[in-house]
Amino acid sequence: MKYYSTSNRKLEVGLREAVIQGLAPDGGLFMPEQIPVLPDSFFASLPQLSFQEIGYEVAYLFLKGDVPDAALHRMVNHTLQFDAPPVHVHDQIHSLELFHGPTLAFKDFGARFLSGLLGYFAQQQDREITILVATSGDTGSAVANGFYNVPGTRVVVLYPSGKVSEIQEKQFTTLGGNITALEIDGTFDDCQRLVKQAFGDTELKQKLFLTSANSINIARLLPQSFYYFRAFAQLKTPYKQVVFSVPSGNFGNLTAGLLAKQMGLPIHQMIAATNSNDIVPNYLESGIFSPRASQATISNAMDVGNPSNFVRMQQLYQDDYERLTVDVKGCRFSDDQTREAMQKVYRNHRYLMDPHGAIGYLGLQNYLSEESVGVFLETAHPAKFKEVVEESVNDTIELPDRLHEFMSREKRSIQMNAGFELLKDFLMEF
Ligand SMILES: *Cc1c(COP(=O)(O)O)cnc(C)c1O
Repeated sequence: MKYYSTSNRKLEVGLREAVIQGLAPDGGLFMPEQIPVLPDSFFASLPQLSFQEIGYEVAYLFLKGDVPDAALHRMVNHTLQFDAPPVHVHDQIHSLELFHGPTLAFKDFGARFLSGLLGYFAQQQDREITILVATSGDTGSAVANGFYNVPGTRVVVLYPSGKVSEIQEKQFTTLGGNITALEIDGTFDDCQRLVKQAFGDTELKQKLFLTSANSINIARLLPQSFYYFRAFAQLKTPYKQVVFSVPSGNFGNLTAGLLAKQMGLPIHQMIAATNSNDIVPNYLESGIFSPRASQATISNAMDVGNPSNFVRMQQLYQDDYERLTVDVKGCRFSDDQTREAMQKVYRNHRYLMDPHGAIGYLGLQNYLSEESVGVFLETAHPAKFKEVVEESVNDTIELPDRLHEFMSREKRSIQMNAGFELLKDFLMEF
């Protein structure tokens, strides 16, 4: 399979290049040249397939020819070490819990698949791959945990000192092994600038095989389609119309759902649910895409003013606005509505949602009929947003064991100022 740049259909590369480059040289995002469709036999056997079997069948269509079977099985099994169950909340509403991975958010799926693939490429060329990543919190923890102990890879996480939450910091500073944390005396923007400078430095690029684990990497998107199939397999209501509501920021999750739909999964409706950063819902209503500075909300992982995967959504529909707006409906909710939803669902149904999942839940309200079953993506464990959730539901919530474990370990980081020379010296000796 070839992957083309969304900025130039003629710029095509193979899987390896698409994954190692992350972003196309012309600034575009990589897209598969065609969307393969799964055979009827796959859908007939779907309810009997394990999560790993589903993941393998889906990934195979994109990766065959580039990755041998045994390696593909390894990658998928490494990715899907935990389930994504649709949990019944009330009436015909289900929560697709995507937070059962090591860092308690759906980004674990993408990070783990990417690490498996880069680990494979490293092996192929007998050269260690160094992943440089700047983080304001969540990306660093998902990437560090995804690559932890993956042979042939090592990760350097740059993060702004004192500007990430303690839980997040513990998740990438306590692993050790092939994970190194650099605590930068500066802001997230400084960290990002340093990473960019490193990628632009000829000496460094000669010495190290550098790559990023950016969220727009196509290898992070593909595995996010696995759990839409898994949800169908587990719902056991094939006669009903299935509606997915996706709390969205950069729209990777939603795009992965559209991919699943185009691969043949009979999704009846996709809902693009946002907080007040409603650039895509506005587009779906008006046809005008107008990015703007992001606003801070309590669902902060979705505070995005210029959603990066929007261009992929358009490409999947060949820029056909009419067709896109049939398949995807948009809606947005305020912080007050989000808090109220968390509170009501907890009070009436004893189900705890995080602020992002709560927006997904709200998104279902206007789009369910007698015929349909609604599934909202619960993208993070509520304990990750302990303060706002506890305040909304007026109760205390427990940290899951794996968070406790992180919290009890000792932080190890290397402190550095925000100048490039220090970072370069460090990496040259690395
Ligand atoms: C990243 C993130 C989102 C947004 O997902 P996109 O794929 O960027 O739309 C939603 N919820 C949580 C908890 C996240 O970490």
